[in-house]
Amino acid sequence: MKLLSVIVPCYNEQENIWDFYFELMKTEPFFKEQDVDFEIIYINDGSVDKTAGVVKDLRTEDERVKLVSFSRNFGKEAAMYAGLEKAAGDYVAVMDCDLQDPPKLLPEMYKAVTEEGYDSVATRRVDRKGEPPIRSFFARMFYKLINKMSKTEIVDGARDYRLMTRQFVDAVLSVKEYNRFSKGIFGWVGFKNKWIEFENVERRKGETKWSFWKLFAYALDGIVAFSTVPLAVASFMGMLLCFVAVFFIVFIVVRKFAVGDPNKLVGWSSTACIILFASGVQLLCVGILGQYLSKTYLEVKKRPLYIIKEEI
Ligand code: UDP
Ligand code: MG
Repeated sequence: MKLLSVIVPCYNEQENIWDFYFELMKTEPFFKEQDVDFEIIYINDGSVDKTAGVVKDLRTEDERVKLVSFSRNFGKEAAMYAGLEKAAGDYVAVMDCDLQDPPKLLPEMYKAVTEEGYDSVATRRVDRKGEPPIRSFFARMFYKLINKMSKTEIVDGARDYRLMTRQFVDAVLSVKEYNRFSKGIFGWVGFKNKWIEFENVERRKGETKWSFWKLFAYALDGIVAFSTVPLAVASFMGMLLCFVAVFFIVFIVVRKFAVGDPNKLVGWSSTACIILFASGVQLLCVGILGQYLSKTYLEVKKRPLYIIKEEI
């Protein structure tokens, strides 16, 4: 008998816990046939609603349900990592609680791993139906940008919904960085990976836990974690401005000796523009440097990714 661990990060998802469970159980006959048992680990990421209580109720019905509660909200990345650490399964799946990751795909994913010899099966949504257009726009820009800048492929529309073999999970766990960007890490570890596409499903109940700015910060995390191109751009801009400056110095000196200084008083506005531009570029570059430095700072502190309050 094989074990399939299903990891479900939950942050204020009280309305979705049971729905998710029932939906997942619809795949149970298939897995019974394959001689696979479930282990469902709800990671309660510091919810302030009744998430923990609801999971406990569910556990009284089904012993295979487990609960890990964090001491506060540590974010989905930390929740996924905790789940992967706790999972005992031969196969591990990570799924959202809001049913945006349809459990009905699981049998197909399982077959890809067991019969077609893949190490992990990932999913991507082919549209962004039901999402605010501005969010879709920035998301597309982000994927274009990061794929230009990073050697690791980060797929547009990729969800964190994934079925992995034990070997793959151990590889992901061995990446112990503090600033985690799983979409990148899953690609970075390598192995044979299959993509399954599906049409976007809207959140069943409750609302998204990601505000625009939270997503923006997450996108920045992703870029800093998987690319050093911004640093190179900063150096390049510095170099370019130096060349321009040298060119102008030579130009002004030559002109002074050739034709004298024609503009005695004019030229202050262009000077102001140049100063503004140059200081803007400097601040931008210091900012880029700061981003990397701050991530390094957090990394060096080696704080734990999460703290557990309760584990059942
Ligand atoms: N989530 C979490 N911690 C957070 C934010 C979200 O564990 O700080 C969980 C959330 O409960 C859900 C999944 O991550 O199961 C995806 O979140 P959500 O549906 O809000 O994101 P969206 O689908 O809108 O990108
Ligand atoms: Mg969702």
